[in-house]
Amino acid sequence: IYILGIESSCDDTSAAVLCNGKILSNVVANQEIHAKYGGVVPELASRAHQQNIVPVIQQAIEQANIDKKDLNAIAFTRGPGLMGSLLVGTSFAKSLSLALNIPLIDVNHMQGHVLAHFIDEEGQEKPPFPFMCLTISGGHTQIVKITDYFSMEVIGETIDDAVGEAFDKSAKILGLPYPGGPLIDKYAKLGNPKAYKFTKPRVKDLNYSFSGLKTGILYFIQKQVKENPNFIEENLNDICASIQQTITEILFDKLKKASLETGIKHVAIAGGVSANSQIRNTLKSFENTLGWTTYIPKFQFTTDNAAMIAIVGYYKYLEGIFAEENVVATARLKVNEQ
Ligand code: ATP
Ligand code: FE
Repeated sequence: IYILGIESSCDDTSAAVLCNGKILSNVVANQEIHAKYGGVVPELASRAHQQNIVPVIQQAIEQANIDKKDLNAIAFTRGPGLMGSLLVGTSFAKSLSLALNIPLIDVNHMQGHVLAHFIDEEGQEKPPFPFMCLTISGGHTQIVKITDYFSMEVIGETIDDAVGEAFDKSAKILGLPYPGGPLIDKYAKLGNPKAYKFTKPRVKDLNYSFSGLKTGILYFIQKQVKENPNFIEENLNDICASIQQTITEILFDKLKKASLETGIKHVAIAGGVSANSQIRNTLKSFENTLGWTTYIPKFQFTTDNAAMIAIVGYYKYLEGIFAEENVVATARLKVNEQ
């Protein structure tokens, strides 16, 4: 079964071809344009998707070494995401499915992040049901309990900012370009994680909060810079290491609690922030200390990509779940919604 996946929910245009869950191609066009604005500008993202979508899909089909006519279905991201971005992928997917006369499959982007673990790749283990997934991305921070491919329940989530925002906003305070998450990761490797202490939030149950941390970091930096204008440059590595340490502790305090409460010891991470090296290493370390079996996605499946959309499409295809012809993009969509 050949599935073409199309992802255009935010600022990456991506297309992938999967054959029975195995990747034949996974092309991602990043949009450089947003870096100088310090964040994604929706109107510009939408325009860039329009420019990129045809060449990206053409490349994906070429690299897969198949003909368009070999495709069995087209899977596309229906939401959640930026409406102007989603519309480009949705409209294109609909037109192509009509032109090729093959089924259309709508995909929930958040299910894509979670089910990326089921892409058939060497060195990537598929988790057994039930498992837990800490989905950490630019717009989401949630602990999801997965009992089947399309049976997911959010058992904890952020009440304000997402963890990706916490990384990016902290980086912005330090004068780093967008997206700052990967840069904090890079500088943190050279720093002392215990150099500075930031207050961790107190939130009920399995929920998270990251807006207080961002404010705490802002005040701390402002105060230090007043005393020493070169404070950031002189201590960048230590600051980044300390921020990353705090975020990692916040994430895993609740994830450990979730495992105790549910009794589930098969634990995965997903989403752009799961590319973070300390978060990956910390999760891995719980195999020895807590007896967990952990599932860490390959690097290329962490941030937005169409392979994760195509794999959801593949499982929907097998179950005979297709989109209606009048399907529309949806900016808001919960992980447990189809
Ligand atoms: P959502 O999936 O919630 O709609 P999104 O698709 O915009 O949001 P992703 O592409 O999954 O988000 O993730 C992007 C986020 O991941 C950004 O905030 C980025 O800074 C963060 N990120 C990427 N790599 C790293 C890293 N190594 N360390 C920390 N954060 C990272
Ligand atoms: Fe995403």
